[in-house]
Amino acid sequence: MFVEKMFDVIILVLVRIPGQGVLFMLADLHVHTTASDGTDSPATVVARAAEIGLTALAVADHDTLEGIREAESAGARYGVEVLPAIELGTELGGKEIHILGYLLDPNDLVLQEHLASFRRSRRQRAESMVEKLRHMGFGITNNRVLEIAGSGSVGRPHIARALAETGAVSSVGEAFEKYIGYGKPAYESRVKYLPSEAVRLIRRSGGVAVFAHPGMAGCDALIPALVDAGLQGLEVYHPGHYPATSDHYRRLCRQYNLLATGGSDYHGSSHQEHKKLGAATVDYRVVREMKRLR
Ligand SMILES: [Zn+2]
Ligand SMILES: [Zn+2]
Repeated sequence: MFVEKMFDVIILVLVRIPGQGVLFMLADLHVHTTASDGTDSPATVVARAAEIGLTALAVADHDTLEGIREAESAGARYGVEVLPAIELGTELGGKEIHILGYLLDPNDLVLQEHLASFRRSRRQRAESMVEKLRHMGFGITNNRVLEIAGSGSVGRPHIARALAETGAVSSVGEAFEKYIGYGKPAYESRVKYLPSEAVRLIRRSGGVAVFAHPGMAGCDALIPALVDAGLQGLEVYHPGHYPATSDHYRRLCRQYNLLATGGSDYHGSSHQEHKKLGAATVDYRVVREMKRLR
């Protein structure tokens, strides 16, 4: 805790020296908003990024670009460069693999069509999990889950909150542990998209494709095939990675000539995953490199 606090102070002092501009240009390339399962609105996340002195922020919601416009206009107000991004959920051999897409055009109609089908599969998955919970005797309803999700793309955290409201569990964490976590009785796997399909979709749409938190996916054997499909980077820096994990993926980046990216995977200050905004960042040079790759 003390070390964490010290780190905050160091960031603030080094980055924001009044009258002398920005000494370090840092980018957090992975944050979520209320457009998916985050608890901060896009404008709030950008305001917080400005507070801690970030130069750039990639808004990478699950399967949607809905939060980008609001984030971009907040970015113009607060002087933070917002990079349009997305995190696509895919699956291979029973493992959940997330692929990040950067510098995508939110107005691209072909991309929008594909994303709508990703979101449809999220909704269907949520519906069948609710169905299972109802069969188990819980008073959860699909409408309540959709209400909690609001305009965001619906996911398991929303189901967990609805279940907690019925009194069946006392927390979101307990809902995952007992019922909707991987392999639990109400768990439902989603309509499967392959990681290579996600990489191709991002590349076809003119974006930069990056393997999200590969240390948590535990699927290194997949990397050569993803590189063949067009993968351009690995998310080396992530709060879920130990320093040795990051070292390992930095080496793989050199081996495959991939960009080493990083981000906090921030989901908001009141989310059950207490990842802090800016907990993992990269130098702004990575953003420049990304623009060159595009
Ligand atoms: Zn992820
Ligand atoms: Zn994420």
